[in-house]
Amino acid sequence: MKIVAFKIEGNGIYAQDVPAFAEAIKGAQADVVLVPGNSRVKRAMPAAACRAGAEIDTNVVELAIEGDKVTASRWAYRQRILVKFSRAARPWVIVTDPALFGEICAKAGVTAAELPAGAAAATRTTTNGVVAAGNGGESTIKPDAQLLFVAGAGWTKKQADGALHLEDAAATIKDFLAKSGASLGSSKSLVDMPEAAAALTFMSHMNQVGQTGSTPRHAKGLATCCHGEEPHVVGWRFINERRAVNLDANCGWAQGKADVLYVADAFAVTKKVAELLG
Ligand SMILES: Cc1cc2nc3c(=O)[nH]c(=O)nc-3n(C[C@H](O)[C@H](O)[C@H](O)COP(=O)(O)OP(=O)(O)OC[C@H]3O[C@@H](n4cnc5c(N)ncnc54)[C@H](O)[C@@H]3O)c2cc1C
Repeated sequence: MKIVAFKIEGNGIYAQDVPAFAEAIKGAQADVVLVPGNSRVKRAMPAAACRAGAEIDTNVVELAIEGDKVTASRWAYRQRILVKFSRAARPWVIVTDPALFGEICAKAGVTAAELPAGAAAATRTTTNGVVAAGNGGESTIKPDAQLLFVAGAGWTKKQADGALHLEDAAATIKDFLAKSGASLGSSKSLVDMPEAAAALTFMSHMNQVGQTGSTPRHAKGLATCCHGEEPHVVGWRFINERRAVNLDANCGWAQGKADVLYVADAFAVTKKVAELLG
């Protein structure tokens, strides 16, 4: 039983990644190929596995190896059922949950290697450079970030001094994002607010998390100035470690929806954390 793991990070170009990954799978001559399920891998690896004649499964959270038998586990039916399954076909590409890649490799007794140099097969695509698309500025949605930072409508509400602090809110959130590298999520109330759209120009409906928004998969989440109502929190179903900062000790997060609720002013807390991050 030969198991090989590849460390694949950063951004790639689909047209170049597919042949490169396919060559790496073929060249490894392994029974099982382990890769981390980041957005780059999820985009190109299925096509690469198909090209290499391999079987592929994604979102694997655990691997058990007994002799020649490999059993993988993944959640199904919205995290309600943990399915254990095996495949006879080889090679078998197993895409792990990105946060569990290191742990799964360690249990399998393999060290993740870089992709072999020159693995890229001939392609007619040449890249002269990367041109920023549109004029939307830097993207605040980062699927591979460790932390999801959610901003709620409270950032645009009157504060203790009876005044609005929209510019301060925008600067504080931007500073925190720059220093933490977190991905920015939002509540529906905030992205629907015209005054927020004018002040928080780095945010759009694309940031909305929840029932009618997105369901991101970051390892950790921090909600600020967000009440934690069910239609919002349902979008957190894949986020296991949850914390929230809210002035209201009875907000939704306090009703079993967060692990830790800091009853505090999110303006002050976010500024302080950004300051500590340096
Ligand atoms: C069919 C349907 C679908 C929906 N889909 C979604 C969805 O996809 N996503 C979504 O988010 N919502 C959705 N909603 C709306 C949802 O029910 C809530 O109305 C919304 O999430 C509330 O947003 P909020 O918590 O940011 O705002 P608010 O409810 O206004 O809460 C603001 C919070 O900020 C706090 N606050 C104020 N100032 C501070 C401060 N200085 N420091 C700390 N805390 C402070 C307040 O205590 C308050 O808890 C949906 C609703 C319906 C009916």
